[in-house]
Amino acid sequence: MGLLAGTATVTGLGIKKSLFANPAEDTGTMVKVVTADGEVKEVDSSMVAHPSEEKLSQFNPRTAVPGKKFVMVIDLARCANARKCIEGCQSMHGMLAPVEYIKVKRMQDSDLGAPYWFPTMCYQCDNPPCTKVCPVDATFKRQDGIVGVDSDRCIGCKFCMAACPYSARSFNFGRPEQVAFSEAHHADKDKCCATKSGTEGTVSKCDFCPESSAKGVLPSCVSDCPNGTIFFGDELEDAVTNGEETFRLTELLKKRAGYRQFEELGTKPRVYYLPPVERQFPFEEATEAHNTQE
Ligand code: SF4
Repeated sequence: MGLLAGTATVTGLGIKKSLFANPAEDTGTMVKVVTADGEVKEVDSSMVAHPSEEKLSQFNPRTAVPGKKFVMVIDLARCANARKCIEGCQSMHGMLAPVEYIKVKRMQDSDLGAPYWFPTMCYQCDNPPCTKVCPVDATFKRQDGIVGVDSDRCIGCKFCMAACPYSARSFNFGRPEQVAFSEAHHADKDKCCATKSGTEGTVSKCDFCPESSAKGVLPSCVSDCPNGTIFFGDELEDAVTNGEETFRLTELLKKRAGYRQFEELGTKPRVYYLPPVERQFPFEEATEAHNTQE
């Protein structure tokens, strides 16, 4: 629903359908709203539904983990497209294929160069264009570096999807099997996420699994990768780990010539890549063995 200034301004709220039929309990305060047809109407404020407390997220997605500045490093020399990061992510967030917050792309920098696998996800940019275009403040930058989404506030306008230069966000179209799966997933307190992935008509994405990070547990994409491709850590501690090996972030980036995607855009991603030099897996074998999508 769109928003207009007027007698009062309404943002991200629904109109109570039942009250159209029985406009009782008028407050006398008029607000302007835009209908689904794009028509501007002036209605009594009692006709505007406010989200109830119980519908608000169990975890406050805006609360940062104190004293942290999360960062990720992806070693392209190790990625064999095993897809375990994708499966772990879907399980963690209650998502079903074909929606993937992590996408593993085939890359080849020149005709003479060899192809390699390139995992992508939301880069939790420090200068994120996506948060600046949200009309209802549903997506935001946290102090711990994470770019969050408040699914209860999202109105599904997709402005953030258009603004992201990395195509990192997904729209939830409300496939019945996905909605049922998500509801069951989010009802389980042990699996509950700050971002309610799969809520119909909302946008969601990788969020660095802040509930796990708050408990000191690595995100699933990190711990489920059989090749130790993804490192996660804290820039303030200057350390990243894949669960088996731990490195000083600054030393690793210097030694392995770490870089960020589309640095020239000024988005300042919090995900770094280590170039695919001296790759540990022959590309063709990896393709045959692992490049299957369910
Ligand atoms: Fe926003 Fe895209 Fe950056 Fe993620 S990768 S923070 S969605 S601009």
